[in-house]
Amino acid sequence: MKQDSTLGEGLHNFVDEATIREEMARFENPEPGRIREILAKAREKQGLDPEEAAALLRNKDRDLDEAIFETAMHIKKAIYGNRLVVFAPLYITNECKNRCAYCGFKASNKELDRRTLTSEEIKREVEVLEDLGHKRLLLVYGEHPKLGADWIAQTVRDVYAVTSAKSGEIRRVNINCAPLDVEGFRKLHEVGIGTYQCFHESYHRPTYEKLHVSGPKRDFLWRLHAMHRAQEAGIDDVGMGALFGLYDPVFEVLGLLHHAKQLERDWGVGPHTISFPRLEPALNADIAYNPPYPTTDHEFKKIVAVLRLAVPYTGLILTTRENSEFRRELIEVGVSQLSGGSRTYPGAYSDPEYDRPDVQQFCVGDSRSLDEVIRSIAGDHGYVPSWCTACYRLGRTGEHFMELAKTGFIQKFCLPNGLLTFKEYLEDYASPETKAIGEALIRKEVDNFPDPDRKHLLTDRLARMEAGERDLYL
Ligand code: SAM
Ligand code: SF4
Repeated sequence: MKQDSTLGEGLHNFVDEATIREEMARFENPEPGRIREILAKAREKQGLDPEEAAALLRNKDRDLDEAIFETAMHIKKAIYGNRLVVFAPLYITNECKNRCAYCGFKASNKELDRRTLTSEEIKREVEVLEDLGHKRLLLVYGEHPKLGADWIAQTVRDVYAVTSAKSGEIRRVNINCAPLDVEGFRKLHEVGIGTYQCFHESYHRPTYEKLHVSGPKRDFLWRLHAMHRAQEAGIDDVGMGALFGLYDPVFEVLGLLHHAKQLERDWGVGPHTISFPRLEPALNADIAYNPPYPTTDHEFKKIVAVLRLAVPYTGLILTTRENSEFRRELIEVGVSQLSGGSRTYPGAYSDPEYDRPDVQQFCVGDSRSLDEVIRSIAGDHGYVPSWCTACYRLGRTGEHFMELAKTGFIQKFCLPNGLLTFKEYLEDYASPETKAIGEALIRKEVDNFPDPDRKHLLTDRLARMEAGERDLYL
């Protein structure tokens, strides 16, 4: 029998439809004065209640929408500075027993070549990713009974084992896989995963049950309680998400916020990250071509901005589902992590045979190489790309991380550490053009660094990096 959390008996559907409807109804047509009050509260970095988030999302006044974006930019700058964490997804298997109406990997898609990477193939993929400069990977899995927690744990070990004198190593492996029981999560914790990530897709239960046609994923509550079980197993960085396009986006944002609140109540810490994939066309997934609730770019940007205000200390993740132009706008209003140079088919980094749009899980909107993405982050935005993993490796995770984040720690540690990883990237992996842009940005950041003691530590380590040392952090 599946083992739910020990909290299981007390756990329920904490994302209650009637409560969310009530919160949505309360601000059918929000007063401008009320919107300004909510934005003033958000500026205090105290987060927002679900009904306040609903009011911002339901606002129709374009000028006030601009004020929402401006406040989100302010919070983003105040908490995260100009740093952006970079990662790549690594698809390990596309074998799947579920029939999610929107996904190209669904069991009923007979046209898809199914592939599960062997240890040797994982090694080849990781070598390519390391040679590009990646240090943080998100491993992605379909759900299949023959591929359980022990096997997933082994794939994590396989990834961490790939190191080379030339290109270093992967320093943080995050996981996006189907929910496990507590024992299963414990196995992942033991092999040193960073964040456990799982998207609830739709918090609206009737929609969820309609779109998950068959397979274990049909069990709404098993998935809803996954983060609780992960916490119980010792994984204190958990990542949530909803798939936008399946149901009313306001409902989904409120679902995410209720989920986050329940985690805070039960574990003292909310989600480490939130993702907001938007439905993309996928092979033989009709619904993905005709989303029941298409989300416009403006609505989507507002979702990102409102999440930034509602959960200011939670990382917001943007994937290559969105195109490069729009990614720029979303970064400004709150995104703190993004993927680059992604492939969404197992084996596609090392084997060009699988690097074709027709076999990917969904269509990638930003197909630039990692080097191009980094050049644009640094050159066009003046943002510092970061591969930093210092907190995780020093045990600053979960509740501990959140407490630190609230005391300005991100600026004190994350920015210098981000600069050090950027320097490492420029030394070892960047094209000459990217290197020139990056070095100029590092010089500017060092010149403007406010704390003289830390500036000294930073310049010392940057010089040591140039002399050949690696993996230095504060
Ligand atoms: N099988 C695991 C699961 O479903 O939780 C994890 C892997 S699944 C490939 C990762 C995520 O991809 C899903 O949670 C879903 O949100 C997203 N996804 C699936 N189909 C998509 C599509 N057509 N467009 C955008 N995202 C999609
Ligand atoms: Fe399988 Fe996940 Fe795709 Fe659903 S979303 S079909 S569970 S891979």
